[in-house]
Amino acid sequence: MTTDNALRGFMRRRAGLTLTGLVLLGMAGVAEAATPSQWVRSFWPTAKSAGVSWAVYDRALGDFSPDPDVLKKANSQAEFKSQIWDYLDITVTDERVTKGRELLETHATELAAIEKRYGVDREVVVAIWGIESHYGAVLDNPKIVKSTIRSLATLAYKGGRRSKFGRTQLVAALKILQRGDVAHHAMTGSWAGAMGHTQFIPTTYNAYAVDFDGDGRRDIWNSRTDALASAAAYLDKMGWRDDQTWGYEVEFTRSFNFGLLRNGGTRSLGEWEKRGVQRVGGKAFPRPGDSATLYAPAGGQGPAFLLIKNFSVIKRYNNSNFYALAVGHLSDRVRGGDPFHRTWPRTERPLTTAEKEQLQKLLAARGHYDGPIDGKIGSGSRGAIRDYQLQVGLVPDGMDSVKVLKHLEANQ
Ligand code: CA
Repeated sequence: MTTDNALRGFMRRRAGLTLTGLVLLGMAGVAEAATPSQWVRSFWPTAKSAGVSWAVYDRALGDFSPDPDVLKKANSQAEFKSQIWDYLDITVTDERVTKGRELLETHATELAAIEKRYGVDREVVVAIWGIESHYGAVLDNPKIVKSTIRSLATLAYKGGRRSKFGRTQLVAALKILQRGDVAHHAMTGSWAGAMGHTQFIPTTYNAYAVDFDGDGRRDIWNSRTDALASAAAYLDKMGWRDDQTWGYEVEFTRSFNFGLLRNGGTRSLGEWEKRGVQRVGGKAFPRPGDSATLYAPAGGQGPAFLLIKNFSVIKRYNNSNFYALAVGHLSDRVRGGDPFHRTWPRTERPLTTAEKEQLQKLLAARGHYDGPIDGKIGSGSRGAIRDYQLQVGLVPDGMDSVKVLKHLEANQ
């Protein structure tokens, strides 16, 4: 699971912190002021109470020095806001599709065994592998791969808002060493502790990684079989439904009410169909009774999808619609599927905050909007955009687009 999403996942679960976690929180003030070696000593009781031996602890942290690159990354506010098509261009490349198809062949035997054991399609497992670590290629990239213990200790020691995450994950990582699944020097991962072919953070590893090749160690770094099985085991535990897909690309008939784009709720595929949402290419939904939600990341202008249960299971790996759509789409492509039927509105760019405020002002001036002028496009703003679009004959998708702003400016 990738860094920022792993962190977000951790933050979501913070309510479930263990006693160890609570002790760690109490130590935050002490840790901040210490030198690295003082900090290592101060952290020992926490590791010890988690069952870590002094020998393992000393080998892992005896010569600890913070990694300046980790600190730099931890303190940067790199909230990269991309359009979904930019994200998919990076994550679902032709190269990744081709490579994924090759790997389905070369790893057919173990993928079949994994699919049989966990009930998760091999194409989905391969897609996760492709997106998480570029099928393991990033593990050989010295610019990306770091010592997990050093990275997490750096976060724990001086990671600011990420130090709680660092402490919890450091304890989990030390427990991995204690159990002997991997040697200290071989336990590597991203700067924020996502490890191996499938980028598990240590707590996820401890809870879900499996030894599928039977050598007694859960080795997601060197055993592709263990790594892929671990990803499948995780999805299985999160509620993956066997023999089902993640969702379907759809298109709208003339009878479709675009007001349902944003707040259509959950309905059966058959109910959606009655409301003018059809599977692309004239294909039927295999199980019309499945519950589905509508997802139209580019509003009425680009590909849209009806999402079923397994989409939300993919999000348990990484809580992002973009991510889950990329995994779902890559899995379809490696299975032999086509690119999306509809095209993205690539000329579209996101509005700046100032433009969003201008949009709200213009909507307010026309009597569509009475909320705050804050540049935050929530349900009130979207409803106002939709009202305006309906009034002037634009597709009422409620999207805060350049097009709708220009239209408003031209019709003041
Ligand atoms: Ca193994």
